[in-house]
Amino acid sequence: MSHFDVIIIGGGPIGIACGLEAKKNGLNYLILEKGAIVNSLFNYPINMQFFSSSEKLEIDGIPFISKEAKPKRNEALEYYRRIVTSNELNIHLFERVEKVQKDNNLFTIDSSKASYTSTNIIVATGFYDIPNLIGVPGEELPKVSHYYKDPHFYASQKLAVIGASNSAIDAALECWRKGSEVTLIIRGPEVGQRVKYWVRPDIINRIEEGSIKALYNAEVKEIKEGSLIVSINEGDIEIENDFVLALTGYMPNFNFLENLGVSLSPDEKRLPEYNPETMESNIEGLYLAGVICGGMETHKWFIENSRIHAPIIINSILKRSEAVN
Ligand SMILES: Cc1cc2nc3c(=O)[nH]c(=O)nc-3n(C[C@H](O)[C@H](O)[C@H](O)COP(=O)(O)OP(=O)(O)OC[C@H]3O[C@@H](n4cnc5c(N)ncnc54)[C@H](O)[C@@H]3O)c2cc1C
Repeated sequence: MSHFDVIIIGGGPIGIACGLEAKKNGLNYLILEKGAIVNSLFNYPINMQFFSSSEKLEIDGIPFISKEAKPKRNEALEYYRRIVTSNELNIHLFERVEKVQKDNNLFTIDSSKASYTSTNIIVATGFYDIPNLIGVPGEELPKVSHYYKDPHFYASQKLAVIGASNSAIDAALECWRKGSEVTLIIRGPEVGQRVKYWVRPDIINRIEEGSIKALYNAEVKEIKEGSLIVSINEGDIEIENDFVLALTGYMPNFNFLENLGVSLSPDEKRLPEYNPETMESNIEGLYLAGVICGGMETHKWFIENSRIHAPIIINSILKRSEAVN
């Protein structure tokens, strides 16, 4: 069984940053990624543009040049892919970590393809794999999706977009511009306050001019083949509908963390326990990196502010190994 100083679970931007930092510091490391390189970004909407400017998405100071100040998804895929390939990072793709066990200060990692041992583990598994379900009858119908990819699919169709945050608003605007008849279903009284400052006026103007219909204080009660039942202040209404994009956010894989032995806060935030000075969790030698550190507060950590986790963690690992030797 191969042994490593550190195994990094997740090959997103932050897992890759950790791998690069481990390599620079002479550690024997391996990144295990269940999908493609930066798999979450690969699954983002095809025309998506980051809200961060490119230099804020850089890792290890490697320049990220983009056409506009804020890069598009394709440019980010190119950037992180080139970091992996030109630095010859040790990454296994399409290899899912299924189980981690700790015995006598040694972790055993079972993946979908092999088993390894490691002295340290970094969990950088992100939050994009599990959607927050709305939990209504009909949510399982094939016309419902929790991921938005390409507006072309919805052209000339009656599309309901559930949600009021950036993902929902971007999808609503883009699909309307490509010829969908869009109804936004918003649980609160207004478009989310965290919507990008340059997008919010656009959606509000489109709603006010009647191009996009918005139902506020509204909740979907049932999804049917050709319609939706929506509860609004005035009572329940039925609207015609072809497709539903339920863009109500995503959550980290809490079962995975709990199976690793990571403690989660008992409140609804489900914050994992870690020392912010080292990013080490309540399990010695097991570190947390990236967006997963925020629990249900998935907006708290993003690439811009969590890329620093990589040097913090690798420093801590180096100090621990110095202390042991
Ligand atoms: C539409 C959208 C726009 C965004 N725009 C910005 C922005 O402008 N600026 C910014 O800073 N952030 C932005 N973000 C947030 C940012 O993309 C995430 O915070 C970032 O991807 C977090 O990186 P990560 O490496 O922690 O997690 P992820 O990128 O989610 O990577 C986690 C990886 O772990 C893998 N994985 C999960 N489980 C396993 C397992 N068991 N075994 C092996 N691999 C596993 C996944 O396949 C995935 O590749 C945006 C997010 C969205 C959804």
